[in-house]
Amino acid sequence: MNTPIPAPNASHSDVLHLDALLTADELALREKVRDFVDVRIRPNIAVWYEDAVFPVEIAAELGALGLLGMHLSGYGCPGRSAVEYGIAAMELEAGDSGLRTFVSVQGSLAMSAIHKWGTEGQKNRYLPGMAQGRIIGCFGLTEPTAGSDPSAMATFARRDGTDWVINGAKRWIGMASIAHVAVIWAQTDDGVRGFLVPTDTPGFSAVPIDAKLSMRASIQCDVHLEDVRLPDEALLPGARGLRGPFSCLNEARFGIVWGVMGAARDSYEAALAYSLERLQFGKPLASYQITQQKLVNMLMEIQKGTLLAIHTGRMKDAGTLTAEAISLGKLNNCREAIGICREARSILGGNGITLDHSPLRHANNLESVRTYEGTDEVHTLILGNHITGIRAFH
Ligand SMILES: Cc1cc2nc3c(=O)[nH]c(=O)nc-3n(C[C@H](O)[C@H](O)[C@H](O)COP(=O)(O)OP(=O)(O)OC[C@H]3O[C@@H](n4cnc5c(N)ncnc54)[C@H](O)[C@@H]3O)c2cc1C
Repeated sequence: MNTPIPAPNASHSDVLHLDALLTADELALREKVRDFVDVRIRPNIAVWYEDAVFPVEIAAELGALGLLGMHLSGYGCPGRSAVEYGIAAMELEAGDSGLRTFVSVQGSLAMSAIHKWGTEGQKNRYLPGMAQGRIIGCFGLTEPTAGSDPSAMATFARRDGTDWVINGAKRWIGMASIAHVAVIWAQTDDGVRGFLVPTDTPGFSAVPIDAKLSMRASIQCDVHLEDVRLPDEALLPGARGLRGPFSCLNEARFGIVWGVMGAARDSYEAALAYSLERLQFGKPLASYQITQQKLVNMLMEIQKGTLLAIHTGRMKDAGTLTAEAISLGKLNNCREAIGICREARSILGGNGITLDHSPLRHANNLESVRTYEGTDEVHTLILGNHITGIRAFH
């Protein structure tokens, strides 16, 4: 029997017609970012990943596309909706989580911190250049001994006359070695406060963490702060206590709810295409029931996860999105996405462990994504607290 092998039809994978939930402007933005990913990221990502290169010149290109701080308004920021931000995150992460991570660190963490908690002077000084990708920012919360529990942070900023002097260490800080400004969270006599630290300030150093098996096309650093002296204007006056950094983390978590479904979709599409072409036992892999079951299970979770992302985006734009809903979205979509990428790899067989195919690269990246901005366990504890009223963190 010589049945012609059909080409995968992308519209057949949108069984729930989720595209109909997006406006014409939203679909147009999606095409624009998708084209950028096809031209700029897909042809290069295997080399960037293997060589552990973050292509720093891409910052200005992402700025020109209007993707940096895109959900923020004023100060040269694009002022797009939460759903549009989510769509961009999804398309970028279909390329690589490392590139989406840059956009998250820059826009959701560093720029959000300045936009939410900064003075007019700080906003005018940094935000326009950050939206253009000329100024790169980073966000230093995690420490070598304080990860899931940032209240244990040891970095301390003490008053010295009208100056502040910061001592301490941060770990896993995205983009720190190429950043121009670092948002550093530190204990003070007045609780946790945020500081804008120009990275050329004496005493500030950032060393990339090498030998990563995940997020290789991205930079994370160990940061040391040794007698870093700052004027009073470096303080973010609006942020008091951990609410300051946590409000920024929620922005980034929201982007992850969308982004990881991009990585999952790319892996599914790679596996679907491969299964239609690859012949074993005389027939395409796609013709076997077990393969079809894998593809169907992947597609169901992608459709559900995408629906969840759109729903949380509409809630955010309506001002009704809660921290618990973000935790639910991040926990569910990370967990499902990593399972989908691994299942997709299995369809690719041995070829799936090479950088010629995306699923294992995505799965490895998602190990980081399910860890940062709150691990699976932390989001489970947040939701457990929400439904029982009992905090089980301690
Ligand atoms: C690629 C990457 C990029 C990052 N970028 C940044 C950044 O830009 N800025 C920044 O500040 N940080 C960043 N981080 C740090 C990230 O936020 C932390 O890794 C994360 O918060 C977890 O902290 P930890 O690694 O110290 O793990 P730990 O907190 O030591 O946790 C280890 C394990 O124990 C579990 N655990 C912890 N407490 C409990 C509990 N009460 N009950 C049950 N289980 C528990 C955790 O879920 C986890 O599985 C990044 C991390 C990575 C990997």
